Amino acid sequence: MPTLPPKAAYVVRQRQTRQHHCHWPGCTRQVPPAMWGCREHWYRLPKPLRDRIWRAYRPGQEADQRPSREYLEAARDVQAWIAENTTKELPL
Ligand SMILES: [Zn+2]
Repeated sequence: MPTLPPKAAYVVRQRQTRQHHCHWPGCTRQVPPAMWGCREHWYRLPKPLRDRIWRAYRPGQEADQRPSREYLEAARDVQAWIAENTTKELPL
């Protein structure tokens, strides 16, 4: 198996420790709290937004509930992007 960078390795070994669903509006799929959302919806986001979330994400923030301001801003911009770009393809 190829060796993942530490942050990626951390995320992929996280489990479903509590109820936590994908952050895509309306998606109820359960995903580990260390992940933003389900695979399908994550890859619908433009790469620059995914990169911002990934860079701002700090391993453990899902446990101590203290994401950085950068993360919160990126997460807000993701929701704005979804709202602007999916109105024509409902329902998801
Ligand atoms: Zn989803």
